[in-house]
Amino acid sequence: MASLYFKYAAMNSGKSTQLIQTHFNYIERGLNPYAMTSILHDRDGTGVICARVGLNLKVDAFELSCNLYKLVQKKHDIKALNVVIIDEGQFLTKSQCYQLAQVVDELKIPVIVYGLKTDFRGELFEGSYHLFCLADKIEELKTICWCGNKAHMNARITQDEKVVRDGDQLEIGGNDRYIALCRKHYTKGQIKR
Ligand SMILES: [Zn+2]
Repeated sequence: MASLYFKYAAMNSGKSTQLIQTHFNYIERGLNPYAMTSILHDRDGTGVICARVGLNLKVDAFELSCNLYKLVQKKHDIKALNVVIIDEGQFLTKSQCYQLAQVVDELKIPVIVYGLKTDFRGELFEGSYHLFCLADKIEELKTICWCGNKAHMNARITQDEKVVRDGDQLEIGGNDRYIALCRKHYTKGQIKR
């Protein structure tokens, strides 16, 4: 039976590497995967999934208004799909999360969604919230803080190395960067030893 998977992580956990590997595994077996990312993620260019280990994958980019069920159904009608793989699942709308569940239930295609759990304020993204509610299988991809403990908070760091915890969830552009910290060092605002 097909399932809806949500594989969530903090920044720099290697989720893009795992996504690209999963996509490759399907191709290698002669199967037909369909990968997509959000148009809101354009750091590496629109529709490009880029892993820090040096891999990248060109995929379709979907808008917030896109009906993912209809989109997948259309692709599936042309050539049967074996899996749908989504990156940046945190940017999905509530409706899109339900559309992906419909892909699993109606089209019987497994859907694997990768995404961040929380934003730099430590709050759930809309997409992540609904994926936690709807997914059949949930897995945490772990990464570590500079101190060696598990990092599950995403800190937003200004140019003068301060941790910012307030502001708009979607700050597109700007010079701030994001790093994963453990809860203690996120709370203390300590980004290095
Ligand atoms: Zn730490």
